[in-house]
Amino acid sequence: MMFARAHSLLPTFRGALRIRPRHGLFSVSESAVMRTTRTPLLRNTALSFARPLSFFSPSTPESEKATIFSPKKLFYPLSKSPVREMRDRAALINNYGVCPVCEEDARPTADANKQQHDYKRTAPKYECPDCGYPTHCSKEHYLKGKADHDKYCAALREANEDEHDLRSGRKMSEFEFPGPQGFDETVNMANWDIFFYTRGFPSMDTDRSMRHVSKLLTYPITIASVFHQSSPLKVDKEITPEGLRSIAALRTTLYPRQELAKDGVTFLPTDTLRIYLVGARAEASLPPHIWLQLAHLFPQTPFHVYFIGPEAIPAREVPTGEPGEPFSTSLDARLTFTYDPSLYHDYHDRLGGANNFDPYRDVFFLFSPGFAQPPTRDVWQPSVARLLETKCAVFVTGFDEEDVNADIKAFEQYHMEYDWILKPRENTFRSLKRDVNLEDVRQQIFANWGIWGFRGKRYEVTQEEAEK
Ligand SMILES: [Zn+2]
Ligand SMILES: [Zn+2]
Repeated sequence: MMFARAHSLLPTFRGALRIRPRHGLFSVSESAVMRTTRTPLLRNTALSFARPLSFFSPSTPESEKATIFSPKKLFYPLSKSPVREMRDRAALINNYGVCPVCEEDARPTADANKQQHDYKRTAPKYECPDCGYPTHCSKEHYLKGKADHDKYCAALREANEDEHDLRSGRKMSEFEFPGPQGFDETVNMANWDIFFYTRGFPSMDTDRSMRHVSKLLTYPITIASVFHQSSPLKVDKEITPEGLRSIAALRTTLYPRQELAKDGVTFLPTDTLRIYLVGARAEASLPPHIWLQLAHLFPQTPFHVYFIGPEAIPAREVPTGEPGEPFSTSLDARLTFTYDPSLYHDYHDRLGGANNFDPYRDVFFLFSPGFAQPPTRDVWQPSVARLLETKCAVFVTGFDEEDVNADIKAFEQYHMEYDWILKPRENTFRSLKRDVNLEDVRQQIFANWGIWGFRGKRYEVTQEEAEK
């Protein structure tokens, strides 16, 4: 791992949340794309932000309209950005970030006389001229730490320009997504490039466009890529035999075969595939039409996506029900959403337990759940126990290798009976866009970087079928 981790710097109040915020202060950056103002990792909860500008929203706030700038110049020092949200970001780093040189100086050394007892977290005020991020407390410390900073300066510069590009006011034609797939179209899911090409995405000709779009599509397309006929997951190598059974079961719903009715008429069964996103956060806030890109890949199957968890807050355009109450809404005849603020184990029990789930029709995805995070690991445990009871496939993502490994270790420490269905691997359809942790800009992650999967042991679908 190139950069020091700083888990201890993460705020503590998220213990009350179902899911740890996935990205540290990354959530601020994410929210810009996700049309939400949730900033749950701020230690100072009183600190609030204007709703971020979004490229999905035609309703640019009046105060920002004057700041739309030339897309030709995308680099600004954060504090001098024409976009208020970027200046806010600089202020956040100024308040909550860390100067790596001060941090290093404060490390206890072998020389006891040199021990520093009065180390205070020194926030960066000095902006690197090359990436525009506040990186160090002073120019002096910047120069002292420059060799180390140079390792991630280019990545920060890219993030800077990406964020300004999103808010430049240019016409973002890369967000014009293709409509339904023709029945003779063959989509290949080998990687993002080939997917975009074979699926007919119109304007995906720069890496920057791919970064913008992948950040949204990583959620639905990661799901699709697990089941799709051209899935990049390798059978036996990554998908275990048990995993193959689970995926084969779900494919009977996703790729229905024509059946013959008693009266001799053929028909196509149309069972709904139910996708449960447990501990949903950013994925719940996606504009609903993003999920059409999942439905389009399986043109014969209706989908019902359940966003479960206290942070499952829908996008603004979704008509909501009573505050705090579950509600459902449909985008079209083939795509329905349910938002339920319950913890999963409460939801599961309220539904009447594992008998309500069917491994042929139901599948779970946990996007960066953070099993390993002390504030949430105990909350996850009863939920994981019930997920295992369903005998349905459960897929989990993490934002980098360390995150994935920590979650797996914590999961194993629950000491529950399970089968691997997917060995951990890098996710082909991770977000290509870097998220920068504003509490420590050395930390940069990619949403859904890795993926793995498990399922409750004793997979007895045939026996259950016999009992029906
Ligand atoms: Zn310093
Ligand atoms: Zn720099």
